[in-house]
Amino acid sequence: IPVDEFDLVIFGGTGDLARRKILPGLFRRFLSGQMPAGSRIIGAARSELDTTGYRDMIAEAVAEFGGEESNNKKGLQSFLQQLEYVAIDAKGEGGWYDLAQFVRQDVVQAFYFSVAPSLFGDLAERLHTNKIANKKSRIVVEKPFGRDLESARALNETLAAHFHERQIYRIDHYLGKETVQNLMAVRFGNVLFEPLWNNHYVDHIQITVAETVGVGGRGAYYDKSGAMRDMVQNHLMQLLCLIAMEPPSQFESDAVRDEKLKVIRALQPIDHHHIVRGQYDEGPDGPGYRDDAENPRSFTESFIAMRCHIANWRWAGVPFYLRTGKRMKARSSEIAVVFKDLGHTIFEGDEARHRNILSIRLQPNEGMDLQVTIKEPGPGGMRLIDVPLDMTFAEALGDDAEDVTDAYERLIMDVIRGNQTLFMRGDEVEAAWAWTDPLIEGWEARNDVPKHYDAGSAGPEDAMMLLHRDGRRWRDIK
Ligand code: NAD
Repeated sequence: IPVDEFDLVIFGGTGDLARRKILPGLFRRFLSGQMPAGSRIIGAARSELDTTGYRDMIAEAVAEFGGEESNNKKGLQSFLQQLEYVAIDAKGEGGWYDLAQFVRQDVVQAFYFSVAPSLFGDLAERLHTNKIANKKSRIVVEKPFGRDLESARALNETLAAHFHERQIYRIDHYLGKETVQNLMAVRFGNVLFEPLWNNHYVDHIQITVAETVGVGGRGAYYDKSGAMRDMVQNHLMQLLCLIAMEPPSQFESDAVRDEKLKVIRALQPIDHHHIVRGQYDEGPDGPGYRDDAENPRSFTESFIAMRCHIANWRWAGVPFYLRTGKRMKARSSEIAVVFKDLGHTIFEGDEARHRNILSIRLQPNEGMDLQVTIKEPGPGGMRLIDVPLDMTFAEALGDDAEDVTDAYERLIMDVIRGNQTLFMRGDEVEAAWAWTDPLIEGWEARNDVPKHYDAGSAGPEDAMMLLHRDGRRWRDIK
């Protein structure tokens, strides 16, 4: 879908995120013809560069992080012509006059705050005092959005002083993933699933986000945060909302976000017996968490698993098991909807349990499959086997699947279109903190010591027990 001509200012345009994700993503959109001629991307950061220097920097970044498309040298040269740079100081006056001259008022304006959240307030204010932003401008803000309810509220108030909620795009790149949107299509675009999507037919739901990397490099920063703040409060809770929400009355941003908010508000408090926190030990591939975090006495979790319940009619009695961790055995993210067992089998000698499982994979190999039971082909009689019905895009869509867009580029284009559906609203973020804060305060007050787990494993033994106690087991991380 084409977009209107725009000026996109990337504050922090020389930073890691801009170079690894934002600009290579914009380059791909450019190549697919989604950047109207005349649109401009304006890098704004502290480095004393000029536009030529910035274009060189981004050419290098695209070569390094841009994938196959970066071989398109001619395309890259044309793309670079649409890039500008302004050196700016978020905390001072430097550069703002120049930026005001640059940014046009008669095209779509978007300002991407790809800087530390402590600068959000300065940027919002200076965009106004320098009369750069207008009532239609959009701002995009990165995670982390606060570290608790109080700081998130303060951040919301800071932004609200200068921008209306409909102008604020809080990014969670998990929501930009193709499969996450496909999940909504599958749920609400088919007659098959929605009638089964409740406690009569669903036994439980698992959400796993496993990473193989440790926290090395940003250990000191991570140690102040931990898996709950860094992953659960935002990414895992957002996925939970999309799985559990009631059907919105229409596919419109506030209708969807209203339903997500209701899920968060219906989450029950969790007893600490249903939370397992872990820290990875040293392994052949690297040091243990405490060494990475440069804090030998750290009680911060690099792994967390929990059992949640949603107190409403649809989900009464259905556990939602969430887990996420670093230095795990594979890089793998999946949502699995595990349906109930058949009440009775009519097939003689079939003692095996056959279950329908809808698996939604976010990485690697984004896709979905539905485990179904069929007859084993051949003359061996009525023997049953489980097979996955594959709904992976690459196979289903053939050549079109090449255009499976990366999360960041999709979300940025949504900003330009003015579509907030896949962005978190301020009240959602606050409600999520309101639920996680007491859990964090609880383990801090108890001086809870995280359990050890081997680097390269599936997490601490206690996390396995969390499901075993309920007669269930985690899905394999692969
Ligand atoms: P970075 O440290 O690599 O870059 C920071 C950028 O901010 C630089 O361009 C720098 O010039 C600019 N900057 C710093 N102080 C400034 C000032 N006073 N005035 C103007 N510009 C200033 O950071 P990053 O990793 O790119 O992260 C940026 C934001 O994105 C952060 O909020 C971070 O939490 C978030 N984020 C990053 C990643 C990632 O993968 N890097 C992932 C998710 C979220």
